[in-house]
Order: sequence, then structure tokens, then C-alpha cells
Amino acid sequence: MFKAFIGLGSNIGNREQFLEQAIRLLHKQPQIAVTRLSSIYETEPYGPVKQEPFLNMVAEIQTSLPPHDLLQVTQDIERRLKRERLIRWGPRTIDLDILTYADKMIETDSLVIPHPEITKRLFVLVPLCDLEPDLVLACDTLTVKERLKGFGRIKGVQLWKKNNGVGEFGLFES
Ligand code: ATP
Ligand code: CA
Ligand code: CA
Repeated sequence: MFKAFIGLGSNIGNREQFLEQAIRLLHKQPQIAVTRLSSIYETEPYGPVKQEPFLNMVAEIQTSLPPHDLLQVTQDIERRLKRERLIRWGPRTIDLDILTYADKMIETDSLVIPHPEITKRLFVLVPLCDLEPDLVLACDTLTVKERLKGFGRIKGVQLWKKNNGVGEFGLFES
């Protein structure tokens, strides 16, 4: 089994429900167990496209799937939840990014691990820090907590629903 972190984001429709459905679909896979969830954060959209705020969170999983098979699963889930790829960085019902896979570094056309933008994105670092503050990414020398500190004030990322340990994964009603 390998540990991986998945970054999730949604900014269309019932955003929390899309996050929850994506997590349930991940957990349903026989080769994937969702083990921990971060809190949910509301975040200002990133990049050039004007759009609604996102909900972002990070899930820790254990999986026996190799990285490219895991990517296929996450893309299947995006399709099932009716994600349409209209504009890059545009609005989406659900986005699933593989942030890390064990301590591997992978660089192929379809898959780059660790996800290349992690250290620049507060909306990833903040929920990842909930789960693994002392993680040093395979492409980095600092911990997640130290990366976050480097930003100074946290802007554009607000706690939206705290993981309080109650209900399924501490976040959703069972
Ligand atoms: P960003 O990757 O900057 O967050 P995005 O999530 O909007 O942007 P997508 O349209 O979801 O980008 O994905 C574009 C492609 O990125 C996918 O088709 C996939 O093959 C590739 N990709 C590369 N590395 C990863 C990764 N670690 N996790 C998910 N997709 C990845
Ligand atoms: Ca993304
Ligand atoms: Ca993506």
C-alpha cells in the first residue's frame, strides 16, 4: 500500500456535495481507502479566469494502484461528476489532483508528481498542513508548515467547515 494525498476543489453548484461524492467514489474503489480528510476551506479563485470561489480540501488515501492507474480513477470520478473541461483553470464541478504519491517523483506527459504547483498554492498548502505539517515534498527541502510560514499572512483561504472528528471522516454525516 502507498500513501497519497489528493487535492480536491469545486466551484459550481453544491460544492460540498461534489467534494463529498468524490470522496465516497474514491473510497468505494477496492484498491483505495480514504484514511483522513482535512477541513474544508473557501478560497479565492486562482489564475486569469473570473469565477466563483472554490471549496478546497485534501484527502489522504492508501492505495495499491500505481500512479497512472490512480490518475485514471481520479479522472473517471471527474467525468462521473460531470466535470466539463471548457477553459484551463476555469470553473469546475470537481477537480482531483494527485498531490503526492509515496515519496515518488514522476514526470510524464500525463502525470507530474508531486503536483508542480503545490508550493505556490495556499489553497493546497493550508489543507495539506492540516494533515501533514511536517511533510517534505519529494521536490522540496522545506516542510509544508515552513512553506506556509514563508507566505506570511494567509490571504484568500478561509476555514469553511472544520473537520471536528464527528461523522464520517469527521466531516460528513454518515
Ligand atoms: P492544475 O494542474 O494547474 O491544477 P487543472 O487542475 O485545472 O490545473 P486539469 O485540466 O484538471 O488541470 O488537468 C490537466 C492535465 O494535468 C490532466 O489531463 C492530467 O493528465 C495532467 N496532470 C499532470 N499531473 C497531474 C497530477 N499530479 N494530478 C492530476 N492531473 C495531472
Ligand atoms: Ca488543479
Ligand atoms: Ca486537475
